[in-house]
Amino acid sequence: MRLRADFLVIGSGIAGLRAALSLVGTGDVVVLTKADPRESNTGYAQGGIAAALGPDDSPELHARDTIAAGDGLCVPAAVDVLVREGPAYVRELIDWGAAFDRDASGGPALGREGAHSVRRVLHARDATGREIGRLLWSRVSGDPRIRVVDDALATELMTRDGDCVGAAFITGDGAQGSVTATHTMLATGGAGHVFRETTNPAIATGDGIAIAARAGARVADLEFVQFHPTVLNVEGAPRFLLSEVLRGEGAHLVNEAGERFVQRYEPAGDLASRDLVARAIVREVERTGAPVYLTLAHLDRDFVTSRFPTIARACAQAGLDLASDRIPVSPAAHYVMGGVETDLDGRTSLPGLLAAGEVACTGVHGANRLASNSLLEGLVFGARAARAMMGPPSPLRGFGVASPPRAGNPWPSEVVRWPRPAGGPDAAVPTPFEVRDLMWRHVGLLRGRAALEQACGRLEAWAAGSAAARPAHGCDRDFRRIDSLVDVGLLIARAALRRQESRGGHFRADFPSRDDLHWKKHIADVWI
Ligand SMILES: Cc1cc2nc3c(=O)[nH]c(=O)nc-3n(C[C@H](O)[C@H](O)[C@H](O)COP(=O)(O)OP(=O)(O)OC[C@H]3O[C@@H](n4cnc5c(N)ncnc54)[C@H](O)[C@@H]3O)c2cc1C
Repeated sequence: MRLRADFLVIGSGIAGLRAALSLVGTGDVVVLTKADPRESNTGYAQGGIAAALGPDDSPELHARDTIAAGDGLCVPAAVDVLVREGPAYVRELIDWGAAFDRDASGGPALGREGAHSVRRVLHARDATGREIGRLLWSRVSGDPRIRVVDDALATELMTRDGDCVGAAFITGDGAQGSVTATHTMLATGGAGHVFRETTNPAIATGDGIAIAARAGARVADLEFVQFHPTVLNVEGAPRFLLSEVLRGEGAHLVNEAGERFVQRYEPAGDLASRDLVARAIVREVERTGAPVYLTLAHLDRDFVTSRFPTIARACAQAGLDLASDRIPVSPAAHYVMGGVETDLDGRTSLPGLLAAGEVACTGVHGANRLASNSLLEGLVFGARAARAMMGPPSPLRGFGVASPPRAGNPWPSEVVRWPRPAGGPDAAVPTPFEVRDLMWRHVGLLRGRAALEQACGRLEAWAAGSAAARPAHGCDRDFRRIDSLVDVGLLIARAALRRQESRGGHFRADFPSRDDLHWKKHIADVWI
């Protein structure tokens, strides 16, 4: 299949779909998506979408909370865009018919989540992402001017004279295809599956980061991975996310003895930021040698089951009653703050290539993402990237996180160049489990030099194996999955080894403090 379009969007989550809706009518739009178009991280989002809509809220307050969570590395200009433009895009969803929960006055009911200073999270019970995804997909699929090619796995960005001119893909039955486009947008989402324990669905293998890096685009801040503190920890059951909203609505974290323990490690207790709660859990498990639990047994049963029907169902499938049982929990990889570096309009360092949503690094989340800001990011920056696609192809304009210091990004920055992984004579290709297990054990929640060095060594050898196998196995989807996991794992591990401090989602046991003097900077990597 050979296609030609003005605009190619890769990915059908919130960022890709919102972008496609802006582009329609201004040129030919093709959306490539690797699975069923409705399968994305977006569809799994539970808690909600943040926007400063409440009477006690303001964009300034939302910015303050976002920047505090970002632990000193948010790009202020990007945060400003998010919090000021966000409310209009959320109201647009309401106008389009999003079935958000309502309060007694008929306005959107606003929930409170960890590290938000006021109630500002719109939700559709505990399946907000599914509702937003349904709404956007119904508009995209109902518009004959948007061509959606599903089951099409983008494998490579095509370049000509240093510009991105589209992407190659493989179909479900392994046939090759391509889309030549004036503008290409990556909206391929996250990379949770690089880690053995994750809340993300299987599509989240970081493909966009891998193919952009291989095409020579800058990727940045990849050491910053958010580990969610509470996923269902039952042998044999999926690592289902137990949203932070549970704690926002009164659930407690307790140890085997039934004691609330988070305050032993973090003064803010159960509602401290995700990284702090996740590490408190690891330390309590180490201290007691026993699991930890979420309990809602002190809350009203009807409230629990009506507010959290999806979570209650997932617990019931694992044989647990959310309203009365102690629910065993543990942390898991949840969100990657870093990604393909962009400016405020989604432009990357590669002319003709844009990125938005979780695959992108706008700097809006800094070193740690504030809960419920990523759906908002996908909406706002998906639409902005679409607007930029309507202009001439150009590379990022000085506002990328690793661009020289200026008003929007006042911190120093650095770009590190690496030789592109290339095949060697002894190169072996690992199994997905080998990569994911290594990443979880050595590049997970608690990091240290020796384990990171070991991980980098293994991943470099595996990346050489993948590069060597690519020409022969390029149409094999299982191979492509490993190929992404290995390259993204390598980028994350190298970045984690380099940053000798602890900040946001990145914790080094050998450098446990934040070190602004040496490390208050963004670092981008580029493969040459
Ligand atoms: C369990 C869970 C709960 C969450 N809860 C919340 C929440 O309450 N609030 C919040 O703000 N955020 C939440 N998040 C995060 C949020 O859902 C994501 O960050 C956001 O939805 C990402 O949107 P996206 O459009 O960037 O990517 P996605 O929604 O992940 O979409 C990516 C798309 O790209 C496609 N794709 C990927 N690779 C390729 C390829 N090679 N070729 C073609 N197509 C490809 C995928 O098939 C998919 O269609 C949650 C995430 C998870 C996993």
